[in-house]
Amino acid sequence: MNFQVVIVGAGPAGLAAAYELSKRNVRDILVIDQGKAASKRQCPMSKNYNNCARCDPCSIMCGIGGAGTYSSGLLNLNPYIGGDLTEFTSDEREAWELVNTVDQMFLENGAPNILFKPDRERVEELERKASSADVRFIPIDQRLIGTDNACAVIERIHSRLEGWGVKFLLETKVAEVKEGELLLEGGEKVGFEYCILAPGRSGMKWLEGQMSRLGIQTQYLPVDIGVRVEVPASIMEPVCSIEHDPKFHIRTSTFDDFVRTFCVNHKGFVVMEVYDDHVGVNGYSFTNKASDNTNFALLVRVGLTEPLEDTTAYGRSIATQITILGGGRPLLQRLGDLRRGRRSYWSRIERGAVKPTLMSVTPGDVSIGIPYRLLTDILEGLEKLDRVIPGIAGDSTLFYAPEIKYSAKKVLTNKSLETRIPNLFVAGDGAGVSRGIVTAAATGIVAARGILKKM
Ligand SMILES: Cc1cc2nc3c(=O)[nH]c(=O)nc-3n(C[C@H](O)[C@H](O)[C@H](O)COP(=O)(O)OP(=O)(O)OC[C@H]3O[C@@H](n4cnc5c(N)ncnc54)[C@H](O)[C@@H]3O)c2cc1C
Repeated sequence: MNFQVVIVGAGPAGLAAAYELSKRNVRDILVIDQGKAASKRQCPMSKNYNNCARCDPCSIMCGIGGAGTYSSGLLNLNPYIGGDLTEFTSDEREAWELVNTVDQMFLENGAPNILFKPDRERVEELERKASSADVRFIPIDQRLIGTDNACAVIERIHSRLEGWGVKFLLETKVAEVKEGELLLEGGEKVGFEYCILAPGRSGMKWLEGQMSRLGIQTQYLPVDIGVRVEVPASIMEPVCSIEHDPKFHIRTSTFDDFVRTFCVNHKGFVVMEVYDDHVGVNGYSFTNKASDNTNFALLVRVGLTEPLEDTTAYGRSIATQITILGGGRPLLQRLGDLRRGRRSYWSRIERGAVKPTLMSVTPGDVSIGIPYRLLTDILEGLEKLDRVIPGIAGDSTLFYAPEIKYSAKKVLTNKSLETRIPNLFVAGDGAGVSRGIVTAAATGIVAARGILKKM
């Protein structure tokens, strides 16, 4: 098999690359993914999402739409959120144009035409309040596709691409990348003139191995380690009514570390994620069902220098330790118990005002698993936030751990995302150049445009 362009990975980065190339009349394109078509992937919606452990993790992360298919589908329409797109553009205007192109792709394929555009006056008031508490509020325009809608939107993109003649080779893993050729698991070969590697987080280790074999340099990026916080939705209503996923950036007093809120799910649900050697937590929100709570990640950014630069190994060691402490499940602790230096039990949690939305957890003590510096940062960050959002650091507030956002090692490329091997491009989260649907898709477009320039 030979194709002019081969794209590895059908996540937002790979799909957007195929979309951009097709729109510019490139017709000889093959997209390869180890997962299934969106409609055939096991959908957590059809399960009790409190028991995500029963879902096949690869079905959630792999297949058409990638990790985006079962995400809450929140599009952060800003070139600086989930990466920095100006790294790959000549100016800021071009970075915004990329964001708009991605938004347009989702709109053309059925994303709700409702934009959460924060009200200027209320934003200014919130910014003032945040500043007085030494916190930065980052206003952004957002579009919510919703976990229950994302699958249908992805299916539409897939069939539109097929209609344009793009070929898909699914349930097929690429084993090895060579110059001008891919080796598939099973031994078959696919030749290409141009290739974009967009394997996402599920494929980041694989990509790292390929880059090292091909002599393409990679570098470690910081890891974000913290907890998922769950509070009554009424406490978050004043800020979530301004912005759907409000983002706050905080510098902590003791260590001067960077702490941020991430992935706020207003009236959403906490879910468990299962990895090879540890568990983790995340959050979902749906457009057609709601809980009484709001959850969000509160994360400390950790960069490491020699002798251990491997931030992923550090994050994993913490996640594994917490998984052991939780008997294979995430730990859950009431903030009041943490403050008093005691573990949580179900009886104490049940007495609190916040009913957990994830039950497959072990009530325990997160301070045994999270290092002192990081826990101090989390507590100080939440105390500062409490001055902006009163009640957020109440005794009933719940902490789920581990909540860790790994970054892939960043593949070193030129501005068009072309590696030192001519015609071999990378894009998306797996290459460490994005951390979200919009930026992943935008980097796919950058790579596609890089190819178009060379054609
Ligand atoms: C639970 C959850 C919720 C999220 N919520 C949001 C959100 O609301 N908003 C947001 O912006 N982001 C969210 N994200 C992150 C977002 O989904 C990712 O940033 C985005 O999907 C990254 O896109 P990608 O194309 O780089 O990689 P992915 O989406 O991971 O896609 C990569 C694809 O490559 C395939 N692949 C990997 N290796 C190989 C190989 N060797 N051979 C063949 N195929 C391979 C995989 O099967 C996968 O389908 C969420 C993520 C998760 C897990």
